[in-house]
Amino acid sequence: NLISTQTPTAELQALDAAHHMHPFTDAEGLEAKGARVITRAEGVWLQDSEGHRILDGMAGLWCMNIGYGRDSLAEVAARQMKELPYYNTFFQTTHVPVIALSAKLAELAPGDLNNVFFASSGSEANDTNLRLVRRYWQCKGQPERRIVIGRKNGYHGSTMAGASLGGMGGMHVHGGGIIDGIEHINQPNWWSDGGDMSPEDFGLARAKELEDKILEVGPENVAAFIGEPVQGAGGVIVAPDTYWPEIQRIVDKYGILLIADEVICGFGRTGEWFGSTTVGIKPDIMTIAKGLSSGYIPIGGSIVSDEIAQTVGAQGDFNHGYTYSGHPVAAAVALENLRIMEEENLVSYVKNDIGPYLAEKWHSLADHPMVGETKIVGLMASLALTPNKETRASFASDEGTIGFMTRERCFANDLIMRHVGDRMIIAPPLVITREEVDELIVRARKSLDEAY
Ligand code: PLP
Repeated sequence: NLISTQTPTAELQALDAAHHMHPFTDAEGLEAKGARVITRAEGVWLQDSEGHRILDGMAGLWCMNIGYGRDSLAEVAARQMKELPYYNTFFQTTHVPVIALSAKLAELAPGDLNNVFFASSGSEANDTNLRLVRRYWQCKGQPERRIVIGRKNGYHGSTMAGASLGGMGGMHVHGGGIIDGIEHINQPNWWSDGGDMSPEDFGLARAKELEDKILEVGPENVAAFIGEPVQGAGGVIVAPDTYWPEIQRIVDKYGILLIADEVICGFGRTGEWFGSTTVGIKPDIMTIAKGLSSGYIPIGGSIVSDEIAQTVGAQGDFNHGYTYSGHPVAAAVALENLRIMEEENLVSYVKNDIGPYLAEKWHSLADHPMVGETKIVGLMASLALTPNKETRASFASDEGTIGFMTRERCFANDLIMRHVGDRMIIAPPLVITREEVDELIVRARKSLDEAY
């Protein structure tokens, strides 16, 4: 009766469909087709229960930065579990792994971002951020500063706060709308929304929407602005160069806190340790998760400026925290992950070697008849599919859209590439080699041809 990787695939799929509720998945589709059962992985390669080798162009969910199959992370986890599997960091206790990881993150993070509040995921960390910025303004004697401004099509997680801070309509529709005190402005997606404007003018115009929103709700009521340096789940939307400097100018002008959601961009993905450095902003808080442990174990958190940490810390307890905040095993694994990233110079590999190599190959897909915009920063990239490259038109978007069909062809060709509407996106493990990039491009082009 034991279920194992030796159990026939059809049986595993039937049990899965019967008992497992999948995130972001249409259950009827699952019953009809059965989920692909992933059994092992090594480097950038997944293996399924039928023995196929699949090139993971998405690094899991943008998280397997150092790639699969790293024994030392398992060894560190086992050692830590034997020595101290758990203790909390509430009520005046701490432990060595969380001290070491906090100090390491303070060293890696830019400016005065020297304080870490831990969570187990990016969503939880953004819940922390919402409460923390409101608490900060209470401590500053400005409790009316409660509004946090996010962006349409931004993604900040699935909890009530995360989903509300994000700007995806579907997330708001399912399960309760937007919680109070959260506003959204439009995203800086020139390809879809730029019309006749130049990317530069469009970037400025979209940044100016922040100022308009601040003036509309009253600057005295605004606590913070939150954004991903490069929008990930929204379709790898890279803002025009004019956008972020203008956002920084506006938050500075009104004294509003800037939260950079680095859950995807952090830990080398953009060719710097943090996407904030890549786009040239100075956040007051950074949300981290995913690449922090390369997905080997759940851990997330907020890296917070001295000013916020000291202000909140000077006024008694901050009534917030999770049982697993700073979990010792997760902290030890994250530290080992960072050690490997440094030892193997992975950030510089992305910036100076494999990133430029992938960029050249990725842009070469632009000659495909249905590929419009090709965008890439570090190792996160997108293609906009279009029936007309001149007008930047969209394909009609019902179920069975061209993006979905292309993704299905990739899946059949043993390449994981995601689609967001008609944008195709990749974010492979940072350790991907040139040969593997070549293979990725071959499979992507084949899949585009088949979907066309
Ligand atoms: N923030 C960003 C930018 C993300 O991309 C994600 C997840 O994809 C999250 C937050 C939520 O993280 P988690 O799924 O770990 O809760």
